[in-house]
Amino acid sequence: MLSAYNQNGQLINFIGLTKPEINMRKQGQKYFCPICEETLILKAGRKNIPHFSHLPNSDCPFQHDGEGEYHEQGKLDLFQWLRNQGVQAELEKYLPLIKQRPDILFSIGNKTIAIEYQCAKLSMDDYLKRNEGYIQTGITPIWILGSNRMKRKKTGMLYSGTQERAFIHRFSSTFPLTLYFYCPNTKILSVYQHIQVVGRNRLLGQWVHRPLSRTSFKSMFQEHAPNNQFLQQWKKEKHLFRTKPPTLYQSREEKTWRNWLYIKHTHNSLLPGIIYLPVSGQYRMKSVPWIWQSRLCLDFLHSLPPFKATSLSVLFEKMDNHFITDASFPLITAPPDPLKEYLQLLEYLGFVTFVSNTEFMRINPINFPENVEEGLREDDLIIKKLEKYPFSSGVVSHDS
Ligand SMILES: [Zn+2]
Repeated sequence: MLSAYNQNGQLINFIGLTKPEINMRKQGQKYFCPICEETLILKAGRKNIPHFSHLPNSDCPFQHDGEGEYHEQGKLDLFQWLRNQGVQAELEKYLPLIKQRPDILFSIGNKTIAIEYQCAKLSMDDYLKRNEGYIQTGITPIWILGSNRMKRKKTGMLYSGTQERAFIHRFSSTFPLTLYFYCPNTKILSVYQHIQVVGRNRLLGQWVHRPLSRTSFKSMFQEHAPNNQFLQQWKKEKHLFRTKPPTLYQSREEKTWRNWLYIKHTHNSLLPGIIYLPVSGQYRMKSVPWIWQSRLCLDFLHSLPPFKATSLSVLFEKMDNHFITDASFPLITAPPDPLKEYLQLLEYLGFVTFVSNTEFMRINPINFPENVEEGLREDDLIIKKLEKYPFSSGVVSHDS
């Protein structure tokens, strides 16, 4: 932690002071944890930011809060960045009511905002508890991840576990799904928007990397114009899905699914091109897009009599067990509806049509390719058509 109490009960820090200045001030001083009141050790080396640590045998709940130099420097950068914009930000302020200590706390207008800069892994339980505390007390949490957690491979692709997905923000129904990253070494704030989950641990989205010094706090809430470039990568993934032999290691879900396809007398290489399409609400699904979309198409849509109005609620009920609870995504307001998004795509592609806000019908048969080549051609055709589709923020409201 960057701040501590001195003997006089004042909250102090040594930010921005030189080594000799610190040495002078620390003469005969003792430091105490603002939370557990145990004695703290001041660590001010040549290279690191002056910070405080608990003694090794401490049982303070905040003793491991310091996630090392990277984290402390990032927190400090963000704090000073806000201060430079005239924001009365407070560092590591302890909130006794919820026993939490956000990295940075401040008010803007009538909003109180807590910034958590997270570089290490955090248990899902702790993560949800912290957000709950903030929301209970009317504080809006914003989580910025350390760029050390930003595993990129290709342009627009981000490797992510389920952990990172829980940090996706959406401040309103028109705001795109967004992740924030900051790197204290390069001083770059990265905003990852228009996120689409393409596979078990891969996301596609649009990056904007900017030096922190040339970014304003307000600009964190800007929507960057969406483009459909992710579709090119999506197409590659779709091709791989169709042509790649199954890997040796398969999850139980994948095995069950492959058995189910076998019983249905089909195979992943021969599935209709409308299976494995991008919907922004995919992050809410337990299974990868090809699994729930094939179940929906083969078990349900395919057997619907054509031109017969069907209630959306029948479909929702059928697919209910495919959802992760929304409580796992505390930063998302107005979650997009993956099922409705999917049907809207199918409407756009000419397979179904909405007859009202609550009912739809199938108007065309689903085509099952006879061989892999035909399947690949269909994939290409569908992706080509989708290039004009307004994916934008994932709310393609039908009633507009
Ligand atoms: Zn403590």
